[in-house]
Formats: sequence, C-alpha cells, structure tokens
Amino acid sequence: MSNSHKKAKLNPVGNENHPWLELGQLVSLVVKQRTSTRAELARITGLARSTISQRVDELLSLGVLVEAGDGPSSGGRRPTLLALNPAAGVVLAADLGATHARLAMTTLSGQTEAEIGLEIDIADGPDRVLADLVDRFHELLEKNGRSPRDVRAIGVGVPGPVEFATGTVVQPPIMPGWDGVVVPKVLSEHFDAQILVDNDVNIMGLGEYWSRGLVNEQLLFVKVGTGIGCGIITNGEVHRGADGAAGDIGHVRVAVEEDVRCSCGNMNCLEAVASGLALAGQLTSDGIDARHATDVVRLAQAGDARAVRLVRVAGQRIGEVLASLVNFFNPSCIILGGALARLQDNLLAGIRAVVYERALPLATRHLTIETSALGHRSAVLGASILGAHGALAPTRISEWVRTETPSA
Ligand SMILES: [Zn+2]
Repeated sequence: MSNSHKKAKLNPVGNENHPWLELGQLVSLVVKQRTSTRAELARITGLARSTISQRVDELLSLGVLVEAGDGPSSGGRRPTLLALNPAAGVVLAADLGATHARLAMTTLSGQTEAEIGLEIDIADGPDRVLADLVDRFHELLEKNGRSPRDVRAIGVGVPGPVEFATGTVVQPPIMPGWDGVVVPKVLSEHFDAQILVDNDVNIMGLGEYWSRGLVNEQLLFVKVGTGIGCGIITNGEVHRGADGAAGDIGHVRVAVEEDVRCSCGNMNCLEAVASGLALAGQLTSDGIDARHATDVVRLAQAGDARAVRLVRVAGQRIGEVLASLVNFFNPSCIILGGALARLQDNLLAGIRAVVYERALPLATRHLTIETSALGHRSAVLGASILGAHGALAPTRISEWVRTETPSA
C-alpha cells in the first residue's frame, strides 16, 4: 500500500495506483477485527490518519461501512467504532447433506435473518438438487423482503471433496452423479454474486470459529460421523493445503490388534477403525443390529455395554491422532462435531484423556477440547461466512466500490 494518493476524489479506472484496492483492504481489516477505529486502521496499515479518514469517508458514503458507536477511550476522546454495514447486502448459505439441507439468509457479517431445514436426497443428482436449491433461495429472499439483487454472495457446503478454486465436486463417495459438477457455474445462472463451495467439515470449522468470536486463534474442527474428517481454521480462514486435501485425518494409520482394510485401499486408517460406520460394522459382526453412525449413538446412549466400550476405544484412537496434530499444529481449540460428538461422556472424555497425556505440555497449556456449540447449525453458518469472506475480499470490495461510484 502507498500513501501517495492526495486527491480527495477516487482516481479513474486504469490508474495503476488507484485506491480501490486500498479501500478493499481497509474493509477486510475491519471485518477481520470485527470492529475497528480510524486510529487502529492507521496504525495497522501505516497510512497517514488524514488518508485513512478520507478513505473511511468514501466507504461510509458508499454504505459499505457504518459508524457503530464509541470504542473504549485510551485517554482522550472516545474513538468511533467502524463496522461493516449490515444493510449492505445479504449472503445466501446452504449446507447440503446426504438427506438433509439447511439454508440461511444472513448479513455480510454473519447475522442470521432467516433459516430453514429441509429433506433432500443428494443422490437425486446435481440437476434436481441445485434446481430445488435455487427455488428455495428465491423463496427465502421473497418471504423476507429481499430481492435477488441484494445477494452479494452465496456459500455452499457439500458432503464430499471440493476443488475450492473452481467449486468443483471431485469424486465424492456419497454423492452419485456429482463428480466434476461446477456448482458456482450452475448457481451463477440465477444469481449475480460471489459463489463459493467447500466441503462440510471446513465450513463447520468456520462456523464454530466465527460463532465463538475468536480472533487470531487456531482451531481444529473434528467431525466424527459416518466418516472422520478435520477442518483447519487459522486466524479465521480455512487452511486447505496445496491441493485441498489438508485435514484428511481419517486416513492416518493407527495401531490396532487386528488389521482392517480402509475404503481408500490402505490398512488400519483411523476412519476404518473409529468412525461411526466402522463401529456400526463392529457391532453388526457381534450380532447387534446397527447400520449407521446414528445407531451407534442410540445404542451407546441406551447404555449398551458393547457400544459404550467401542465408543471409548474409538475416542482413545482419535485422541492418539489428535495428540500428534496438537504437537504439530499447536491449536488453541479443538471442537468435536458430527453424530458421535453427542456421546460426550464416552467419546470426548476418551479424546481429552489421551490428548492431554500424550501431547507436549507447551502445546496443551491453553488448549481447550469441546463439543460443537452450534450442533447441526455450524455448517450453514460457516457457509455464510465463507460466502461473506468471498464477497469481502479486497478485490471484490474494490469492484463493488467501482461499480457504485458514478463519477468513476
Ligand atoms: Zn483410508
């Protein structure tokens, strides 16, 4: 960033040093901090106070930011807090599961304005499921007095791997007919908005991070349901790795007495021995009727001794993998979600015991391990945050400012 812009007016398009990118960066700083003051922005960016004041005035007059009361005084006059304008547009969010979906309409800062749950069958394929999604989004807007023109972003979570850059579903095991489907391409025929798609574990992690009001923290969201996966959130952003495979802890090998082959072809993966599906399989081979992760939960909650024992052992094995992750990544919190997270006494207790015993004291000194506070709502909230972050990226803000500045 430079502070060489002296003109009060925005520079014309084509100027290499036009300030729109700066405006976008200021907005994304305000969003990251949740609220900010002119003095803070000057300190963080190194720009002159007068430059910041001028840029902030532009953003206030465009309705991107609003003044949101007074901040704490550091001696003199109390500074005015700046925040994202909640009226600046809405985000549509969808969490598509195998048999259920949750849809929401939120502000750009993640406040829910409307939310619905519905039954779907992801195996109906993308044509039907996405057409239905578009209809439901239109209903949600109409019922709440909004128009498609108000939609700044759409965030979608799916129960399978996604190439994030393009929003393409890649070889999803439980989504027949979806391989290679570019979700944003389909939705962009109906909405002129930033559209982002990610897998469910990543957006659940995002939802938990933002709902807890965390700033500058490292969070692991571990989903133990039919399978096992992990979303990595650092400083409010998903860490996806070079190819989007980061967090796939279900295929870390663990020590077991009897070899088990995993669906990936390898032996003794965590998912093959400790997931809801694996535990259901172990119960079935003992003559107990259990087909899904939810059956394991039901049996353990009813006090079935065999189910309880299996869940405890699973907790220890998941704990062993997490202990290594804690040493490696040093998260400040681990959140447990998914169907089996409901078994707090058995699963969470087992995980906690092993992690605090095995991981290094320095890495566990401030570590908290909890179950999801949002439950089945974490994914839809995360999808809205994902969409909002896309719409609030500096380059998108710059575009927004440019299109709303008539004299440009
Ligand atoms: Zn595997």
